[in-house]
Amino acid sequence: MDEIYGLEYERALHPYYKKMGEVKSLDTIKHSVTTHRGCYGECNFCAIAVHQGRTISERSIDSIVKEVEDISTMKSFKGYISDLGGPTANMYGIECLKKQKFGACKDIRCMYPKTCKTLNVNHNKQLELLDRVKKVEGVKKVFVASGIRYDLIMNDNKCGTLYLENLVKDHVSGQLKIAPEHTEDEILGLMGKQGKDVLKKFKDEFYKINDRLGKKQFLTYYLIAAHPGCNERHMKNLKNFASHELKINPEQVQIFTPTPSTYSTLMYYTEIDPFTGKSMKVEKDTARKYKQKDILIDKDTKNGYMGNSYNKDHSKSKDKAIHSDNINNNKPKKNKFEGTNKFKKK
Ligand code: SF4
Repeated sequence: MDEIYGLEYERALHPYYKKMGEVKSLDTIKHSVTTHRGCYGECNFCAIAVHQGRTISERSIDSIVKEVEDISTMKSFKGYISDLGGPTANMYGIECLKKQKFGACKDIRCMYPKTCKTLNVNHNKQLELLDRVKKVEGVKKVFVASGIRYDLIMNDNKCGTLYLENLVKDHVSGQLKIAPEHTEDEILGLMGKQGKDVLKKFKDEFYKINDRLGKKQFLTYYLIAAHPGCNERHMKNLKNFASHELKINPEQVQIFTPTPSTYSTLMYYTEIDPFTGKSMKVEKDTARKYKQKDILIDKDTKNGYMGNSYNKDHSKSKDKAIHSDNINNNKPKKNKFEGTNKFKKK
């Protein structure tokens, strides 16, 4: 990792594209630093563990500091490291020794249904990293903008609170992004995520620390509607929890999108829970998926199945083909592999 990230990258647009004009998205990554790759969170809907692995491959602190020093000499650098992170920022420096020696367990997961005790959670190395990076000459502020696993923080009895205090004090730019994705146990189980109790504890702790430090920062929650197995009742319960327990009106809600090689995608296409072999209800009608989203963002859903966000998004779309799943009821097309699918419904 150190060797790859130590190469002399230009951190600029390729001259071929430069001729065509500015690329805005480069601004968000120009002064950000990758600390590691991989994720042992292994959420069922996410492809990161599939293509980066469930073992954290990390860089040394020296290598990261050297990159920050290089960034600090860039003309465009104004003193702000926009992100110091990876797929899950706070997995840096936390890895299972058993896994590193013998490989990942085949039949149990590192963070579901609970955080595995063998993981030996300790944010100490991240604290050291943040401390070293913020001391680099020319650096005014280091942000952790990548998502974090709040359950990992709550499982760290040694320095979880200290790490969170540090984030709130120095490394959050107004809001901290977390991704509970849902709060219904049934759906969290299908997603491979921990229950809502730990979310509530984290939320309380976050605001308690903010009060203590005199800060007014807040949490942003990423949530998913229409995950396989999820119906309108689940979304109403989630809405209820968001309003009464989290005291928010959710805005960051995405409709489940099947991603290659994930268990959730397997559920979506086969309508079978791959872990139990039982059939399950999967919402595939586009308008009804939008209705699930609308329940959460508190829009008027009395408009038949075509909820507000459906109409808003679809009236803008000129490309009708991308919404064809609604027209053909999203039945998988017949292909030559169909007969060999062992998960196929009988
Ligand atoms: S022992 Fe626990 S933390 Fe280690 S690989 Fe197995 S499940 Fe993951």
